[in-house]
Order: sequence, then structure tokens, then C-alpha cells
Amino acid sequence: MKTKPVPPQIHIETFGCQMNEYDSELVRTLLKRKGYVFTEDRECADIILMNTCAIRENAHTKVYTHLSDLKALKKTRPLVVGVLGCMAQNLKEDLTNKEPLVDILAGPDSYRQLPILISNAMRAQQQGEKSKGLAVDLSEYETYDDIVPERVPGVNAWIAVMRGCDNFCSFCVVPYTRGRERSRDPEGIIEEAGQIAAQGFKQITLLGQNVNSYRSGDWDFAHLITALAKVPGVERARFTLPHPKDFPTSLLEAVAFHPRICKHIHLPSQSGNDRILGMMNRTYTRREYLLLVDRIRSMNPDIVLTTDIIAGFCSETDAEFSDTYRLLEEVRYHSAFIFLYSERTNTIAARKFPDDVPAQIKSQRVTALVELQRRISTERNREYVGATLSVLVEGDAKKSPLQAMGKTDGNITVVWNKTALPSQPGQLVTREIYDASASTLYARAL
Ligand code: SAM
Ligand code: SF4
Repeated sequence: MKTKPVPPQIHIETFGCQMNEYDSELVRTLLKRKGYVFTEDRECADIILMNTCAIRENAHTKVYTHLSDLKALKKTRPLVVGVLGCMAQNLKEDLTNKEPLVDILAGPDSYRQLPILISNAMRAQQQGEKSKGLAVDLSEYETYDDIVPERVPGVNAWIAVMRGCDNFCSFCVVPYTRGRERSRDPEGIIEEAGQIAAQGFKQITLLGQNVNSYRSGDWDFAHLITALAKVPGVERARFTLPHPKDFPTSLLEAVAFHPRICKHIHLPSQSGNDRILGMMNRTYTRREYLLLVDRIRSMNPDIVLTTDIIAGFCSETDAEFSDTYRLLEEVRYHSAFIFLYSERTNTIAARKFPDDVPAQIKSQRVTALVELQRRISTERNREYVGATLSVLVEGDAKKSPLQAMGKTDGNITVVWNKTALPSQPGQLVTREIYDASASTLYARAL
């Protein structure tokens, strides 16, 4: 009797942003359709794929560390190693010439070629040949519209509505690694949202590197998110990551007033100084940014605002850094991601501006901003003490299985004792807040 051939097993590791997590799900779905199986255990995998991020230096270093770990594994048995995503796109020369370990490189627009790249690499390995499979062309059209990623059951599902970015902020590698901006058709997105809701997901988060630039025919982002918030079963709709330049009144109104669109806007400012904003090519001034903050708050003062900041960008002086520090004091965001500037290959900044702020000064600036933001976040969160908030239950709290956690519609984490306040993931509950820290609100029984 003939035994069935055992299909090769793939292990996939994901680095970086939510878009990469989403792309890994796409890759998984695409390869499963071709008969591959996936394993969580890299020790028994025949193929290891690393879906990489090139946005900041630390993500990049992590990938190189993982690659050197794989060297030892590859010496012990046949193994195909593939690097996917932004690093594959951006560092193709480096990874092909300096990393003999890597068999496959596939950029974010080339995932459809993975089945053929993998089978070629496996065949070459069986025949004892050296091969390098390369697919790194960027596309103006690829949106993977026909592939609905298999999602791990849960409360929140992500939907990528657009890919790429045309903004060319001088520090950012995204336009080079993910290519030109393109949006999916609204019909496909709405259909996917319907399927997601039918599977029991309660919240959808619309995803894109520059999500509010979404445009397809007459549909802009405000139109799209409002339509999605109406899909039966969708309790909450969110979005990330937006650019401050694309907030027409229709979108501000949708966020401010639609009951199922979450009252949270992540509004990356990057800097509070006009010269630095100009060098970054952010297309707004500090004043314009602050006017936008005022417009948002005048429509709905309760909207939670968060931001991204880069400290130590090329030639940033102490006085210019102080403008950023004061921006945090003035806006009083609920939270902020604060990054140390790291020069990325191929970007405008890497070509035009020396990365001349000393590492120590960059770290001092990051520390100062983190400390300031921690104080502001704590004060902001304490404003909720005594309030009763609507919370979407996600599951167990990270720190203790005795506690449950969920999110307010402003995306703030709330935790409570599971025995005193029983709940199920996916439920919308009301919680009375009795204490708060910089990152968490604590609830107790009413
Ligand atoms: N599209 C969003 C926007 O316009 O702000 C940002 C997307 S970017 C993928 C995420 C964040 O990474 C940025 O907001 C920025 O703060 C940070 N970032 C990007 N490039 C960086 C670099 N070279 N060094 C440090 N941080 C960087
Ligand atoms: Fe990068 Fe965002 Fe600027 Fe696009 S808008 S280049 S993703 S920082």
C-alpha cells in the first residue's frame, strides 16, 4: 500500500507592526491553499519564514539575531529559510550576498510567488544545489483582495483596506518597502466585514500605513468606516495608522458622533518644531497640527488622542526638542509612542541629512519625553476615576489570570477581578473605575 507523502511543515515568525501580523495571516492562508501545513514549533519545521520589519534599527537587529540562531539549526538538518516583508524588500543585496543562509526573499507585494519559490528551494536543496529565490518587485495594484486571511478566533479582527504610502516622510522606509499607495474596493471590504461579524468578532480595526488616505472611486475613508460600522454584528470600528493631513470634516464628524466608531484618534505628530517637521516632509506645521487637535476636541472633548514622536532627528537642537516637549504638555495626549530616530537605508533623510545628534543626546531626549508622557498619562487616566465606562471584554489580564481585561472605546485598558465581576470575551460591559495608572484603569463592582 502506498503511504501518503507528508506535506512540508512551515513555521512563520512575525516581527514589527500590525500590518506584518496581517500579512503573515495572508501568507498562511495562501500557502495552506497550496497544501502546506503550519507548525508552531520551529524545531520540526522544514521551512522557516521570517516576516520582517525595517522601520527602526531595533526591529532590524532582532531579525539578524534570529537569522544567526537559524545558522546552527540549518547545520543539523535540511531547512529552507525565507525572509519576507520590508527587510527583504529593502536589503535585498545585503541579504542575498552576505547571508548564504537565506534561500528565499519575498517583498510585501510578492507573496503570491511564495509557493513556487518554496518548492524550487526545496528541490534545489534535495539535489544539493545552491539556489536563491528572489521576488521583490513592487506592484501598483496588488491588494490581495481575493484572499481573506484565516483569523485566529477572538474579539478583534483587522482588515487591511489599503497598502503602501505615497507620502515620503524623509525618515520613513515604508514607501520604499511597501510601494505606492493603493486601496481595495469597498465592496470586498464590506463583504469581509460581514463574514468577520458572522464569525463572532465584535470589533474591526481598519488597517493601512496611511489608512485615512483610503480612496476608491467616490469612496473616501469617512464613507468606508461609516459603512463598516453599520455592518450587523460589528460593535466597534477603529482604524490605524492615520496621517494628520487626511482628516476632512466628514471623518472628524464620523469619529465624534457615530456610536460604533471608537472615540480614539492616533494622531502622529513626530515633532513639535516647524523646521524639523519641514525636514521630515510632514506637510503640516505645529500650528496646523494644533488647530486640528482643537477641531477634534471642539466636536467631542472626550476623544482620546495618542501620538508618535521621533526624538533626535537629524540636526535637532535642544531648543527644537523643547518644542516637542512642550507639544506633549500642550496637547496632553492619553499616551504616546516615543521613538529614537534611526537612519534607514534608502530614505530621503539618509541621502540628504547627516544623522548627527549623538546617541547619548537622543536617549536623553527619549527618556525626558517618556517620563513626561508617563506623568501626563497617569493624570489623564485618573480623570476617569469615579466614571462608569463601556468596556469591550477581551480576555484574561496579562499580569494575572484572576483578572479580566478589556478596552474602552478610547482604547484604554481596563482590568477587574474575574470573580467579583464575571464576564465573557466579546461582551460589552459597563465598569466603574476606582483607580488608574499610566497605562491601566482599574474597575470594581458597582
Ligand atoms: N503613517 C504613520 C504616520 O504618518 O505617522 C506612521 C507609520 S510608521 C510605519 C510608524 C511610526 O514609526 C512613525 O509614526 C514614526 O514615529 C516611527 N518611525 C518611522 N520611521 C522611523 C525612523 N527612521 N526612526 C524612528 N522612528 C521611525
Ligand atoms: Fe511613513 Fe507614515 Fe510618512 Fe507614509 S505617512 S512615509 S508610512 S511616516
